[in-house]
This record gives sequence, C-alpha cells and structure tokens, in this order.
Amino acid sequence: MQIAVLALQGAFIEHEQMLARVGVSAFEIRQLRDIEKPFDGLIIPGGESTVQGKLLRELGLFAPLKAKIEAGLPVFGTCAGLLLLADKIENDDRLHFATMQMTAVRNAYGRQLGSFYTEAACKDIGTIPMTFIRAPYIAAVSGKGQVLAEVGGHIVAARQDNQLVTAFHPELNEDVSVHRYFVDMIEKKR
Ligand code: GLN
Repeated sequence: MQIAVLALQGAFIEHEQMLARVGVSAFEIRQLRDIEKPFDGLIIPGGESTVQGKLLRELGLFAPLKAKIEAGLPVFGTCAGLLLLADKIENDDRLHFATMQMTAVRNAYGRQLGSFYTEAACKDIGTIPMTFIRAPYIAAVSGKGQVLAEVGGHIVAARQDNQLVTAFHPELNEDVSVHRYFVDMIEKKR
C-alpha cells in the first residue's frame, strides 16, 4: 500500500511520520509528475486551505486529483484538508475539490484564540485526543455523509464513502488510531 501526502504547504511531515508508525509507506505530492505513479490513498494536511487551493491549481494538480477522488480514491483531509473537500463553506466563496456533501465553517472558533485540545469519542474508533488549530467545524453533513465525532455540539469528524475528514489534527498527537482507521478504509476498498 502506498499513501500519497499532499506536500504543498502545512503539516504534511507529521502525517508521513504517523504513516511510518502504522507501517505504511508514503510519498509526497509536490508536482504533477509525482502523481504518475499509482497510489491507494491521499492525505490532505492542515495548513491554509486558500494557499493549498491556489498552489493545486497553479501546479496543474487540481483537476487530476479531483478526478481521482471522484473516481473513489480514498482521501483523508485534516483541518484545511477538510475545507478543500467541502462542497459548501458558509463563510468563504472559494471552493476547491468540493467532493464531500457538507457545510463547513472556516476559522469557526476564532482566528487566533481558536486553538484548543480536548478528548472525545469518535465513532468506530473510540475516545481520541483532538488538537484544534484555527479549525473549521462542520455545520451539517448531507447525502451519504456520516457524522463520526462532535465536540461542543459541532461536527468535527465525518465520512462519506471513501472520504474521511477531521477538523482537528490527529497527526499532532501520539495516538495513531485515526490513521489506522484510514488505512483500514483503504484496505476494505482494495
Ligand atoms: N484556518 C485554516 C484554513 O482556513 C485551517 C487551519 C488548519 O489547517 N490548522 O484553511
């Protein structure tokens, strides 16, 4: 199994470290030729969704990656990655892959003071640590979307078929269970 990590901006190295810890090999997508080789899953890290969206388009990666996700490539988006997958952002007109039926709210906890840590239950995973950094939350999921976790009455993790998103950063804690869950998703699909 090979998992590609979008490495244009943000916290991609931490995801690679988590994948190494669960025993899966990873490579970075930095330019168009990086997606010539086959891969079984894609991680879109946290960072700035607007910057990642702009770079994806400039580098010609946007259309081919969107097509792969639409064709069923398993994808895991954290924080900014969640925003790249949302088909509606309540407080931002800029949409990106828009492959997941959900309404996200950007910088939903405030711009600077919005960083916090908590622990909460995640469906099919258990209670896990959750680090939020200028995070979005999901106001609602629709269609085939499934809520996996809520914190303070807001959805912070969701899944739609082969797409998984968390508003928090599982790659910044020791617990590898969300990455393991993603690897399981890929294994079940293969
Ligand atoms: N606030 C960022 C955005 O709007 C997301 C923050 C993060 O990924 N930690 O893209």
